[in-house]
Amino acid sequence: AKQSGGNRYFMFDPFKDQVARAERTALDRLQQALTAGEFELHYQPKVDMRAGRVIGAEALIRWRHPERGLIMPGEFLPLTEDTDFSVTLGEWVIHRALSQLDAWYRAGIELCISVNISPRHLQQPDFTQGLAALLSAFPELPSRLLELEILETAALHDTAHAAEVISACRRMGISFALDDFGTGYSSLLYLKHLPADTLKIDQSFVRAMLDDSEHMAIVKGVIGLAEAFNRKVIAEGVESVAHGSALLELGCALGQGYGIARPMPAADLAHWLATWRAPENWQQTKEPPPH
Ligand code: C2E
Ligand code: MG
Ligand code: MG
Ligand code: MG
Repeated sequence: AKQSGGNRYFMFDPFKDQVARAERTALDRLQQALTAGEFELHYQPKVDMRAGRVIGAEALIRWRHPERGLIMPGEFLPLTEDTDFSVTLGEWVIHRALSQLDAWYRAGIELCISVNISPRHLQQPDFTQGLAALLSAFPELPSRLLELEILETAALHDTAHAAEVISACRRMGISFALDDFGTGYSSLLYLKHLPADTLKIDQSFVRAMLDDSEHMAIVKGVIGLAEAFNRKVIAEGVESVAHGSALLELGCALGQGYGIARPMPAADLAHWLATWRAPENWQQTKEPPPH
């Protein structure tokens, strides 16, 4: 009897069951939050540090919880990762970002918006058709104003599918960035097959580059790689003016980070756009030396 009890315990692990139940409850709560309109997008500017010009903004999701206040994506997105809800939420994000983009465009603010796509969403066989359907609701909006950010690691997971999606979307005028670039630790050969427009250097390397020569080497490496493959390169995690200056020296003009602007609600962006000036010493930076 003892033994079978042990076996039974092993087969019906109550802890695992509890975890699964808790995850389902949390997911139900997220579904409810979507219906209740508790999600919102904030926008973080991306700038050309050399030209002192704003090139676009990245849409970042937040959950305005009625009791807990603003919750960051790191706290709830992981729960959705392997579920169909991440596709539902992804579609909501795209639609919300396009509505905002359309509103800005009509108001004469011609800004490019970047939207993060979850790995699960990207993997959908009909991703491109879904995107085309969402875009068709905004017939006046030039699709070149939309950029999609996909994780380098997700693109690597199924390079053939990712390459197909990127090519099909680029034919519709949409551009692509490989996000958190450098964290995939992969053979660089695959880059040949992924027609993404931009490499987005992961912020962990950028943030540490001034104090750590190995991180600096990785940043230099990605900038060189982008050049060799004829792609654009942008640094995320530009936390200070000094980070920006160092990146400009290395030949990376595009940047995003707390040192430029934090993510902000859509309503605050127009004011930010009207008042932002690049730091003096960025604009004095000469063109990078020829390679
Ligand atoms: P990400 O796409 O790499 O976005 C950059 C994250 O770094 C954002 O965090 C941003 O607020 C933060 N950040 C920007 N500049 C700096 C800086 O200078 N220093 C530091 N320490 N952090 C900086 P956030 O908004 O918490 O988003 C975290 C991640 O969640 C994003 O990383 C992205 O992978 C994911 N995410 C956010 N919104 C969405 C979304 O709508 N859909 C999907 N699928 N993923 C999203
Ligand atoms: Mg991103
Ligand atoms: Mg990133
Ligand atoms: Mg990230």
